[in-house]
Amino acid sequence: MSTPLIELDAIRKAYGGGDAPEVEVLHGVSLTIHAGEFVAIVGSSGSGKSTLMHLLGCLDRPTSGQYRFCGVDVAGLDADELAWLRREAFGFVFQGYHLIATESARENVEVPAIYAGMPAAEREARATALLSRLGLSARHDYRPNQLSGGQQQRVSIARALMNGGRIILADEPTGALDSQSGIEVMALLDELAAAGHTLILITHDRAVAARARRVIEVRDGRVVADSGPDASRADGSDSGWLEQMADGSRTRAATLAGDMREACRAAWRVMWINRFRTALTLLGIVIGVASVIVMLAVGQGSKQRVLEQLSAFGANNIYLGPNGDSARQNGGRVTLEDAAAIRTVPNVALVMPYLEGQVVIRYGNLDYRAEGGGVSSEFPQALNWKTARGMFFSAEDERTMAKVVVIGERVRDALFKDDDPLGRRVLLDKVPFQVIGVLASKGAQSGDSDEDNRVVLPFSTASSRLYGNPYPSWLTIGLADGAKLQETEAAIDALMLERHRQRDFRMFNAASRIAAQAATSDTLSLLLALIAAVSLLVGGIGVMNIMLMTVRERTREIGIRMATGARQRDILRQFLTEAVLVSLVGGLAGVLIGLLVGGVLVLFGLPLIFSVTAMVGAFACALLTGLVFGYMPARQAARLDPVVALAGE
Ligand code: ADP
Ligand code: MG
Repeated sequence: MSTPLIELDAIRKAYGGGDAPEVEVLHGVSLTIHAGEFVAIVGSSGSGKSTLMHLLGCLDRPTSGQYRFCGVDVAGLDADELAWLRREAFGFVFQGYHLIATESARENVEVPAIYAGMPAAEREARATALLSRLGLSARHDYRPNQLSGGQQQRVSIARALMNGGRIILADEPTGALDSQSGIEVMALLDELAAAGHTLILITHDRAVAARARRVIEVRDGRVVADSGPDASRADGSDSGWLEQMADGSRTRAATLAGDMREACRAAWRVMWINRFRTALTLLGIVIGVASVIVMLAVGQGSKQRVLEQLSAFGANNIYLGPNGDSARQNGGRVTLEDAAAIRTVPNVALVMPYLEGQVVIRYGNLDYRAEGGGVSSEFPQALNWKTARGMFFSAEDERTMAKVVVIGERVRDALFKDDDPLGRRVLLDKVPFQVIGVLASKGAQSGDSDEDNRVVLPFSTASSRLYGNPYPSWLTIGLADGAKLQETEAAIDALMLERHRQRDFRMFNAASRIAAQAATSDTLSLLLALIAAVSLLVGGIGVMNIMLMTVRERTREIGIRMATGARQRDILRQFLTEAVLVSLVGGLAGVLIGLLVGGVLVLFGLPLIFSVTAMVGAFACALLTGLVFGYMPARQAARLDPVVALAGE
């Protein structure tokens, strides 16, 4: 005779062990079941029937003994192969229905096909057809709690049939039903047996068992009676069963895209159902991402502003002035001769003397105090400072000590308001001058910068007519090549030492100040980013928390999914997808809120610079957080034992 479908040989099963005392529930059960049989396993409560069914359905492993399925020792199969058997060979019908509460009737029926990789359209059509066949055509979209017990049991039968249901394992299928529903369900099972499904019915009720063509009686973990193999079974042939199954399942290999779509759909459903809790947990991630974006934008913006302000005065200039201390000792001065000498140093493009001092400007009967400066005609070029109106004085004006003045925006505003200042005569410390130009404002929008509170005039005029001082306050030295700043500075230093024979002068350059400023704001940015990172971490812990809770709450769902053929990696994927989706939504909300807050700050005049890199980075961090912190709970879910998970609450 051919290989039997199921062969149990001296199967023993003990619970407990470890801390709990070990209790043996099955004491050496041996039986043989052929394909197409309709077998009832009957016994009183506690006799070990459910334990036996879990072993038969590969939901659990025996303590000892051998279980051969189509001649193959099940003990030699790994977790994935067992999942494949549960998916392709078995269909479970439980006393408590074990439907997934968050999914509709049709979605529940579809679950086994999802893990078998059936395309969505085919899956839906098949589930719909099965539900209609079982008299539930109007109830597709109902949730389990909207269905009666009999209807739920019919949904679970449809689910058992979804992947073919070659072997239907029904554990007290009518146990929780009223008698009318029980009769209907039994009639259905009868039909399935007649149609060639192998049916193993577990019951404590002898009347129910009597409907089977073979009755096996179990008492205290032992088979005490067996009416013998059913000779009239519909399908006599067992051979090639496993191969047939393998062929059937190989034709539809699961696609990753389909799996992911399914996982996302389910994850979204769960999130939506728990949306309030999810939203609260997500606050960490939202705040983290938003603060990364805003803080980096603030840091970047203020850095940019500082750089702009500094470079407005020529980032590559070297400034040389007398050293204060030496000046007291022996009147250290920088002279115009020094300036001329420095002009010959390689890489020096220009040397502009600056003679500074406060002046009172009188126009009509208005007096206004401003910073005064005697400069050369190279001023616009040296300080990158354009003339907004009129013109700057020329080298000729310098030579002739022309009494011309170019005024800053704030001076213009104070003295002339809406009048045209060009060509007007003003008194600088009582000396008459003619206004020939207005400097462009250095202030952001309005002329409110201190730099704008100034007037400039030819150096020669300033030194002889205004201040009576021939020595520049400092020299502004412009370089041809900013990259050679250090060498040039050293060369000037050597030259000046040679000329003065002592260090009674000092030099500084804006580049080093810019570098220092940039370093400061980089440190600040780093600090801000660190704060943001901490809140992302807190967000990640939130995700982990929600996922751990979810796994605990949904242990039974995990068991159901495993019983219907989910592999460990399916479960892992599902829970990881949930974690990632949660953080994805959090990350997205964070980006939006970050932009919103940033926008408001911009409206209040803060110089924000949003960086796409920061946004993408923060978003990626959020995703990564979900992945990292979701992994542990997801793995915990995937590693659950099917029977343990099924029994969980
Ligand atoms: P039946 O389905 O025939 O009512 P079960 O197979 O459910 O019986 O249980 C048989 C015996 O095994 C019972 O005494 C029960 O207490 C014990 N048992 C079942 N499951 C477990 C378990 N997970 N841990 C410990 N004991 C168990
Ligand atoms: Mg039971």
